[in-house]
Amino acid sequence: MREGFEDSPMYNGNITGLGPRYCPSIEDKINRFAERERHQIFVEPEGWDTIEVYVNGFSTSLPQEIQTKALQQIPGFENAKIFRPGYAIEYDFFQPTQLRNTLETKHIQGLFFAGQINGTTGYEEAAAQGLMAGINAVQYIKNEDPVVLKRNEAYIGVLIDDLVNRGTQEPYRMFTSRAEYRITLRQDNADERLTPIGHKIGLAENERLDQLLNQQSKIEELSGLLEKTSITVDDSLTLLNEEIKEKTRASKLLLRTGVDLNAIMKTSSLLNCDYSEEVLQKTETRFKYSVYIKREQEQAEKLQRLSYVKIPENFDYTQLKAMSMESREKLSKEKPRTIAEAQKISGVSPSDISVLLIHLGR
Ligand SMILES: Cc1cc2nc3c(=O)[nH]c(=O)nc-3n(C[C@H](O)[C@H](O)[C@H](O)COP(=O)(O)OP(=O)(O)OC[C@H]3O[C@@H](n4cnc5c(N)ncnc54)[C@H](O)[C@@H]3O)c2cc1C
Repeated sequence: MREGFEDSPMYNGNITGLGPRYCPSIEDKINRFAERERHQIFVEPEGWDTIEVYVNGFSTSLPQEIQTKALQQIPGFENAKIFRPGYAIEYDFFQPTQLRNTLETKHIQGLFFAGQINGTTGYEEAAAQGLMAGINAVQYIKNEDPVVLKRNEAYIGVLIDDLVNRGTQEPYRMFTSRAEYRITLRQDNADERLTPIGHKIGLAENERLDQLLNQQSKIEELSGLLEKTSITVDDSLTLLNEEIKEKTRASKLLLRTGVDLNAIMKTSSLLNCDYSEEVLQKTETRFKYSVYIKREQEQAEKLQRLSYVKIPENFDYTQLKAMSMESREKLSKEKPRTIAEAQKISGVSPSDISVLLIHLGR
C-alpha cells in the first residue's frame, strides 16, 4: 500500500484539514503503527438483497488500483471487486463558539445550526444537535423559553456545552469520558431526567409522564420501606449470600456487593410486597449507586473549586501517563496557565484534569 502514498491526498498535501482522530485511514495506521503485524477488518453486509459488503477498517484515499491490489491480497478476497472505492473526506465547519447554548447563531437571530457544520463528526452527535436545534427553533417561533439541557442532565448537555464554550480544532466526538457526571447520566434513568422536560414542551404525552410519576412514587414508597425494614439474622442466613451478626436495615444491607434486592424482597417482612421488575431494579440501582453519585458530585465540585490553581510554565505533560494521549498532546501545545484554562480545551476530560491536579499536589 505504501506504493500509493505519494498519490494519497491525505499524504501529498492536497488535503490539509485534520481528519477525525478516532477514525484514522489505513495509510495513517500503516505509518503510525508500522511495527504491528496484523490489522483487523470487519466485513459488513450492505443489505439483505445485495452481494455488496462494506469493508470496515479500510478507510483510505489511496489510488483505486492500489486499493484493489491490496484487497485482493487478503486470503478469501482474491476475486473481490470494488463497487465504489474508498475516498477521503475533509471537514469544514463554523466555529461553534459563535452559537448560543440553544444552537441559535449569535450573529443571525432565528438561525439555528446543528451537526457537522458545528465541527462535530458522528451520526449521534448530528442527531442530538438536530433535536435540540429543532426544539429551540420551535420555541423561538412560539416565543417560549428555550430548552437547554445541563451537563448533569444529559450527554446532549455535555456535547453542546463543550461545543459552544470550548469550540473545537478538530472533528469533535462525544465520549462519555467527557462528562463529569457519568454515573448520573445512565440509560436506566433517562426517563426520570428527560421525560418531564419533554412533556413540558409537548414532546411527551400525558400518559408517558403519568407512567413515570406513578413509577417514581412506587420507587419512593419502596425506598422508604427498605429504610424502615430490618433483616433478621435468620433471614440473612437463608436468603442472602451474606452473614450478619445482628439485625440490619435492608437499605444498609443492600449497599453490600453480592446482596441483591430480589433476595431481600423474599425475606419474611417484605414477602408480600408486590412491585414491578422495573421498580425493583431502579430502586436497587438508586441505593447501590448512591455513594458513588455523592462522590461524583463532590469530585465535580472540587474541579470547579480548584479551577484557579496555576500550572507552572513549561510543565511537562508527557510524564502524565495516566492522562489520555489526546490531552497530553493538546495541553503541551496550548500551555494553559490555570486549571480553568485547561478545562476549556476541547478533548481534555474531567478525569484528565483530576490527574493533573493530583500531580500539582491538589
Ligand atoms: C465515509 C464516511 C463514513 C462515516 N462513518 C461514520 C460512522 O461509522 N459513524 C458515525 O457516527 N459517523 C460516521 N460518519 C460521519 C457522519 O456521517 C456525519 O458526521 C453526519 O452524517 C453529519 O450529519 P449532518 O446532518 O450534520 O450533515 P449531513 O449528513 O452531511 O447533512 C447535510 C445535508 O445538507 C445538504 N446540503 C448541503 N448544502 C445544501 C444547500 N445549500 N441547500 C440544501 N441542502 C444542502 C446536504 O446535501 C446534506 O444532505 C461518516 C462520514 C463519512 C463521510
